[in-house]
Amino acid sequence: MSAQHQQYKFSEIIADPRIRERWEKVRRYFFLRESTYDMSNRCNIRCEGCYYFAGEKQFAIENSDENSWRRLFQSEKERGITFAVLAGAEPSLVPHLCKICYQTIPLGAIASNGLKPISREIDYRIHISVWGNDRTSETIRKAPNMLARQIANYKDDPRAVFVYTFTPENIDEARQVTKLLTDNGRQITFNMFSAPVGYQGHLRHTSETLKKTREVMSELLRDYPQTVLFSTYNIVAHTEKSALHELFSCSYPRMNSSMDVGLGRTFRQYRTDLQWDREAACCVPDTDCDDCRHYAAGSALVTARMYRHAIDPVTFSAWLDYVDTYLAVWVRGYDKGVNLCNTFITPPPKN
Ligand code: SF4
Repeated sequence: MSAQHQQYKFSEIIADPRIRERWEKVRRYFFLRESTYDMSNRCNIRCEGCYYFAGEKQFAIENSDENSWRRLFQSEKERGITFAVLAGAEPSLVPHLCKICYQTIPLGAIASNGLKPISREIDYRIHISVWGNDRTSETIRKAPNMLARQIANYKDDPRAVFVYTFTPENIDEARQVTKLLTDNGRQITFNMFSAPVGYQGHLRHTSETLKKTREVMSELLRDYPQTVLFSTYNIVAHTEKSALHELFSCSYPRMNSSMDVGLGRTFRQYRTDLQWDREAACCVPDTDCDDCRHYAAGSALVTARMYRHAIDPVTFSAWLDYVDTYLAVWVRGYDKGVNLCNTFITPPPKN
């Protein structure tokens, strides 16, 4: 479906009570300002195509001084950061530093492989990475019984959301994994393998695997609506032939020289030595921008393009679904609503 031709005022778009209610629900979170932090340069597994172990950042010295981190997070809070994303390499190896962050910036998320449980006193969303069934994980991540261990570690834990990264080789396995997580009362959202700069391996998507991924995502969203945190517009945004930057114009500093507003002004990506580099700063540094379909990138890029989507009720509903999904995946205590738009719309072009 394409955008309708009638010109709408914003008041007309939100005249529909369902759209207005969702708009009021999501806009309460517009205060969120994210930055990301590499908490450790170590990991207890080594996955093929991991963006952390591409580029320079993996060689940053690991600062383990608690007072240095405390001062950093305090200064981040003072410059307006309200949401912390703790990532690469494996944050669960430095729980005392994660706790310092939580004590200073109470909203956030931790990207973890889920093999080492993170104490419940750190009440962030925990994103547990899944790259297929256990046989595939053992091949790509060189770790046995990953799902069984991840589920055991985060059983009955409302912080946990499992993030399934679709590669060309695990598309069908998403059914089996989603069923298993459903049986265990867990939630899942979807990510796309996005090649690091210079990656020459076999996990880069093609137009055929993008199409097949779209079909399987749609099937799972339809069949497991309580388990799958996603929407039809999420599927569109992440499985189009064009990647996210081409579709939505990335606003992270790495691709955006403007320091006037938004991510270009506030976002920083700190390395383990507590330094950051504006030229490299985005949520998935060292990822190839032409292949970037990463869920973390989309959460920022699509969400930032509200005005581009506020053109008609259908397009705006699709954008609201995306933002509602993003908040449910990233913010503790935010519950996903029923999706408003279940048709595939074309992302609106730049004005
Ligand atoms: S990798 Fe993705 S998020 Fe990072 S700068 Fe490129 S397009 Fe933006």
